[in-house]
Amino acid sequence: MKILIADDSSVSRHLLGSMVKKWGYDIVSVSDGAQAWEVLDRPDAPRLAILDWMMPGLTGPQVCEKVRAKNRESYTYILLLTGRTQKEDVIEGMTAGADDYVVKPFDQQELRVRLRAGRRIVELQDELLNAREELHQRATHDALTGLKNRACIRQVLAERMAQATEVGDGFGIIALDLDRFKVVNDTYGHAVGDAVLIAAARRIQSALTEADEVGRDGGEEFLVVSSRSTAGLAELAEAIRSAVAAEPVVAGEVVLPVTASLGYAPLYPGASADLLLRAADEALYRAKHKGRNRLEPGVIPGC
Ligand SMILES: [Mg+2]
Repeated sequence: MKILIADDSSVSRHLLGSMVKKWGYDIVSVSDGAQAWEVLDRPDAPRLAILDWMMPGLTGPQVCEKVRAKNRESYTYILLLTGRTQKEDVIEGMTAGADDYVVKPFDQQELRVRLRAGRRIVELQDELLNAREELHQRATHDALTGLKNRACIRQVLAERMAQATEVGDGFGIIALDLDRFKVVNDTYGHAVGDAVLIAAARRIQSALTEADEVGRDGGEEFLVVSSRSTAGLAELAEAIRSAVAAEPVVAGEVVLPVTASLGYAPLYPGASADLLLRAADEALYRAKHKGRNRLEPGVIPGC
């Protein structure tokens, strides 16, 4: 783990540096408060810092204040070094946002265990961030296909549609439903059905660019949100249809042709997300009735 040592006394800085290095930390050392803040303000800043109290530029507590004011997600554990022993000073340092302090001249073993405590806090905070990230991923994504789930893709739809309406950019959606999927599940079982869903999800994704996002909207239904104009939307729908049907899905012993029906609906003046979804769904069912493995445009009211 990287650690910042900031001390204007070169003797103290070198002593600290060689000690801390011996304990297995990587050292970044600076000789004043302004440099300390510069290092701690970097995106790859050390997560542990030992700051001398009295330094030119900024004092240790002032550096603390700047770090805390920035309030970044990954926590910086700060230990203040002080020659002062008065209680008010310690309170001042902790109020500025320091986590701990060591009084000079310090005891090696004491500094070592205090650093270890700091390191534990930093590691614990990382674990919490990872756990939160994982929970967020689970709450927003479909476990089987790894695509965004229904709530998430509909949120994306609402946000991107509002943005497109405001700016006047191209926008539209594509509703997709795998053809005769119930027969697959009923005939071959859910394991094969799952393999088909996973393959279909990958194929849909392979047709998308940065302008498009896809989610699993339920069962064998997928929803694509795109910032393309009407013509681009139809092209994308065709690319997706063709990618899904490109080759059969192989699931163990079973080889299954897979196709999808699609309905697309571009944004029109006065449209709501619900109206757009309804237009795409209606087009999708028209594609089903016309024989499946095809796409149909949504009917825009008043056109
Ligand atoms: Mg000093």
